[in-house]
Amino acid sequence: MGAITYHAVSEMEEFGGYYHKGPDFKKGEPNMRREFRNLDGTVDHPFEPKVNFSIGKTLKLLKLKKQMKKLNQLMQTKYAGYDCYGHIGVAKGEYYGISKGVDGHCGATKENSFPNYIKGKNPNLKDLALPFSEFCKINGVEEVQRIWIAPFTSFGYGFFDEIPAALVMKYLDVTTALEFVNMQLWTWQDGTQEIYEHVNKKLMHPAVLGTEVVKVERPDGKVNVTVRKDGEESTETFDKLIITTPLDYFINYADATDEEKNLFSKIIHERYCDYIATFESGKSPNISGYMVDNMVPERLGHAMVYYNRWQDLDRDCPATVYALANHTGSPDVEYDTVMKTMDEDMKKVGFPIKEKLYAQEVYYCPHVSAKDYADGWYDKLEALQGNLNTYYAGEIISFGDMEDTCAASKDIIGRFF
Ligand SMILES: Cc1cc2nc3c(=O)[nH]c(=O)nc-3n(C[C@H](O)[C@H](O)[C@H](O)COP(=O)(O)OP(=O)(O)OC[C@H]3O[C@@H](n4cnc5c(N)ncnc54)[C@H](O)[C@@H]3O)c2cc1C
Repeated sequence: MGAITYHAVSEMEEFGGYYHKGPDFKKGEPNMRREFRNLDGTVDHPFEPKVNFSIGKTLKLLKLKKQMKKLNQLMQTKYAGYDCYGHIGVAKGEYYGISKGVDGHCGATKENSFPNYIKGKNPNLKDLALPFSEFCKINGVEEVQRIWIAPFTSFGYGFFDEIPAALVMKYLDVTTALEFVNMQLWTWQDGTQEIYEHVNKKLMHPAVLGTEVVKVERPDGKVNVTVRKDGEESTETFDKLIITTPLDYFINYADATDEEKNLFSKIIHERYCDYIATFESGKSPNISGYMVDNMVPERLGHAMVYYNRWQDLDRDCPATVYALANHTGSPDVEYDTVMKTMDEDMKKVGFPIKEKLYAQEVYYCPHVSAKDYADGWYDKLEALQGNLNTYYAGEIISFGDMEDTCAASKDIIGRFF
């Protein structure tokens, strides 16, 4: 899914001629609808004051509203400059990058919104290296985590006690977070893969698919890339190399320098597990659902969200179900255990799985720890750009979503090529 802040993705859509649906959906389009589900299967309404009314709930919601307003103000003032792609300078209290701002939203103007670059110094930005839960605490906005958690943790991006606030706020900047709250989201009729298939068809030099890069050597100002296709290996020589594959694996098959090895071995990725399943007749979810009580490290491996894509299929629609299998400081959960736990969770909330059509664990959202972030990991990476005719791109540069990845690539191409 995407949102109004998907500027770079929009450029890809325009180039390829394949466009999103929403936020106003027509019948037959994969529209966005969601509910919140307790672990006993009942539906919760945490943000609707009139449903299950109580003074306590109303006060809590008022507190949340006040803190949302406060955070929005803080991000525009104390943390001005946070809303750009990438992490250049943040650990030093500086900012530089393409703005993610949307003219007229959350204080953004025409001058400082996408695709303009913003640049400056702001020592407060160093706070963004803190884990998000600590960042919220020092700013007195702890309640807002109730809003941010669903589109962050259940989307596989990790837990708030471990993830640097910069990653949370750059992906779920206030504008994007509000679009999630108000369900002003985008989807693609035939899936997001189609965006890039369409782009690829129009490229002068389309991406070569179905090949594995097995060796990279960079002698004498050239780049030798060995690929394996249909069991056959061949080597080609290039002037420049742009790496968009996981950098922590790159060191295993390339002539990586000590600097590259040192930096890339610090990368952490999420182990995000998901499957698409059918359900017993008439017993599938007919709306997507968040299971917020499972979005805590103590419930690692439990189903956190299920996604219902086709409203017309009502109670007989396959759904995708998602869980995380790792958290800093907790033992990893084995893949098979995660799968079994998700099945049990779905059954307990009223959706007994019939058949799994596809299941996987993905290398997801590569990033670094709060400590390495504060230690200037992203500036060290930036300092390496161009050495040995090598450039680093892909989701590591900004954040593990399509928009941050496309925008960071636009930035790298614009600055270096
Ligand atoms: C289940 C799931 C749902 C998601 N939903 C959304 C969403 O709704 N909205 C959104 O914005 N983002 C979403 N994302 C995130 C988004 O897909 C990623 O952030 C984005 O694809 C990252 O792009 P990338 O080019 O950096 O990496 P990738 O898309 O992972 O591309 C890297 C490619 O490199 C290939 N590769 C790796 N090693 C080698 C090698 N040695 N030789 C050759 N090829 C190699 C891999 O096979 C892969 O195809 C989702 C991700 C997942 C897994």
